[in-house]
Amino acid sequence: MNRIYLDNSATTPLCKAARAAMTNAMEHYGNPSSLHESGADAAARLKNDRAAVCAALGMRDATAGQLIFTGCGTEANTLAVCGVAAAKPKKGERTVLSTDSEHPSVENNLRRLEKEGYRVVRLSTRGGELYLSAAEPYLDSSLFMVTAMLANNETGARYRVEELFRMAHEKNPRCLCHCDATQAFLKVPFSFDTLGADLLTVSAHKIGGPKGVGALALSRAVLSGKSLSPVLFGGGQEGGLRSGTENTVGIAGFAAAATAGAATFRADVEHMRALSKKLIAGLAGTEIRVNRPPVCAPHIVSLTMPDIKSETVLHYLSRAGIAVSSGSACSSHERHPSASLLAFGLSPRAADTTIRVSFSPQNTEEEVEKLLAALRSGLTDLIRIRH
Ligand code: PLP
Repeated sequence: MNRIYLDNSATTPLCKAARAAMTNAMEHYGNPSSLHESGADAAARLKNDRAAVCAALGMRDATAGQLIFTGCGTEANTLAVCGVAAAKPKKGERTVLSTDSEHPSVENNLRRLEKEGYRVVRLSTRGGELYLSAAEPYLDSSLFMVTAMLANNETGARYRVEELFRMAHEKNPRCLCHCDATQAFLKVPFSFDTLGADLLTVSAHKIGGPKGVGALALSRAVLSGKSLSPVLFGGGQEGGLRSGTENTVGIAGFAAAATAGAATFRADVEHMRALSKKLIAGLAGTEIRVNRPPVCAPHIVSLTMPDIKSETVLHYLSRAGIAVSSGSACSSHERHPSASLLAFGLSPRAADTTIRVSFSPQNTEEEVEKLLAALRSGLTDLIRIRH
């Protein structure tokens, strides 16, 4: 059976450029910290790869140390949230502003900070919109960090984080703003230089790179103010902010995927948007409801089925050779309804009957047609057995 992969927000297939770069990098086994020739070779390659990811992120004059490679997006988010808090905010700085639909790798770290006595305020993202006016009362000298995602991993909602960051910096220039751009990178137009974030997370396996590599981009304000503490301690790699020998093979794949994706960005976005539109148009007149935020990343479509559990639909589609997900990959083994979908405004029952379709630039219109056909026959077959 020809399998159709429509779960690209969970992870993407490795792109050709990444595969080639990684195969090549395997021959260059030096440790970038070693002082001999193999080490110097690895260090030079690492420098080029860092520059490539910086360029794809729109960091025009990035200086050394402005981008730290990590083991994944989760680690970059942890370093940002816990590292800023650990860099000892001034006395009285106790407030963190965030949203109610962050990825667990941000949300669970925020809960940790709450246990330590910090106040975390979560702005509503109902309907896929960030409620900025609710931030006003908290924009004072007690605010030391804002962390907000650019695109939501379950609904695709594109939040107006640049406005939130601007408001926070205006009221309190000492406040540091972190953006989890894991789902937005190479899907939504933005550049690190104009977004207004001080720290920004990306992950290789969401853009055609390998699993197990992420990065945290840093503004000069963070570096010069020494406002980030490491969460991993050891040999002092990555400017002392992320100890551990760099995953040079994975990083080579990340850099190649980022460069390839940046080169075809516009066409890719247009293509993924056309696939999403085709899917949504094809569902008109059915009982399937589309959960569409006002501004949406091009690759994610969230669908609520008419009282059929998402797990049932997922298995039905899987048997037809089509991979989608129920909520996000990380929450799909959990029994409680997705926090992001509840924050969007879905009832727990509706959240439990919601699937996520996510495209990559490699998906085709024909695949969307096959999905539509499978969903239509699924509606007939599954509605009969839903009660
Ligand atoms: N942030 C968002 C929005 C994500 O969607 C994900 C992964 O699904 C992550 C962070 C974590 O990335 P990683 O899988 O590289 O740890």
